Amino acid sequence: MQLELFITLLLVHSQVLGDSSSEEDLSKEHEDDHEKSSSHSDHWGYQDQTSWLSTFTACNGKSQSPIDIVTREVTYDPRLPAIKLDGYDLSDGPELTLQNNGHTLQLQLPNTMRIIQGFDEIYFAAQLHFHWGNTEVPGSEHTIDNIHFPAEIHVVHYNSKYSSVKEAASKPDGLAVLGAFIGIGLHENDNYEKILSVIKDVSSEASDTKIPSFNVRHLLPNSLDRFYRYTGSLTTPPCFQSVNWTVFNDTITVSRKQLAALEETLKAGHNESLSKNFRAPQQLNGRQVLASFPALQTRYGVSSETDSFSTTRVNGSQGALSRGDILAIAFGVLFVLTLLLFFLYAYQQRQKHSKSNLEARQNVIYKPANKEDV
Ligand SMILES: [Zn+2]
Repeated sequence: MQLELFITLLLVHSQVLGDSSSEEDLSKEHEDDHEKSSSHSDHWGYQDQTSWLSTFTACNGKSQSPIDIVTREVTYDPRLPAIKLDGYDLSDGPELTLQNNGHTLQLQLPNTMRIIQGFDEIYFAAQLHFHWGNTEVPGSEHTIDNIHFPAEIHVVHYNSKYSSVKEAASKPDGLAVLGAFIGIGLHENDNYEKILSVIKDVSSEASDTKIPSFNVRHLLPNSLDRFYRYTGSLTTPPCFQSVNWTVFNDTITVSRKQLAALEETLKAGHNESLSKNFRAPQQLNGRQVLASFPALQTRYGVSSETDSFSTTRVNGSQGALSRGDILAIAFGVLFVLTLLLFFLYAYQQRQKHSKSNLEARQNVIYKPANKEDV
């Protein structure tokens, strides 16, 4: 019994310290992890996400990811600094390692790739990976107004003040993840093909391959100007609440065939299909989602960009009923109901009155007949 407990504790310990490499972070250590990874990925899966809560306490937190981004509720913040990337063009650099870690398709990135503007600190890249569904189910993690996109890319960075992504992963200011939605377009995406053309080589769990380096910037949308920002967590166990999230408004497209390759090629565990690797949206719990752009101002035809923070929220209410509107409608309905009831009552009274008159008249007519009988 004690031995079992010891083994369980040991497994949980190794998950917390090492398994986080499986998805959102910790890339360097992962390369040495192959003998471990075939078993450690069995510790959690996407089918039963509620079971994460009992094993990984951080998954119960109040600032979890992903979230549904409700465009009407986001706050436009013109002071959000633009994202500036550096060193993303790895053309002619050393080959990159692509792996199937049992949870996702992951590309290791060198820390010469950096976010040099957008946050208080510089963030180094560690890895990028994907989330997807299957042919029936779109599999982005974040949703926009409850809509899933077919897939989502996450480029994971760690705060340069920490010595490694592993050290940063549990710190509140540890990680910055850039997320972008992947949709379906008419044409093949040549940049994504650099990864997807070799996906067959990593079809089995814990396998990896080398691919020629390329300009990683091209995996992200053309414009990085429009984005949502909020504080959240890793979307996989151990769910550390250490991620400063940036979700781009502009999307990337790949061909239907390319998306199918992502959805259908990889295996996990005992030859099971690795698909639908997305976590359900989490409660916002009062967190604010900022937007770098006044999306709803455009939507509602309001062009002023001079107002700051609350502008979008205020404009957002134009599309909905205000409390005053709802009260007015309620009183209107109440008034009509009262009128109807009054008319019904008046009608009933009138009917009653005419009936009693008739009876009275009948009585009057009847009496003389009685007299005749007598
Ligand atoms: Zn992710």
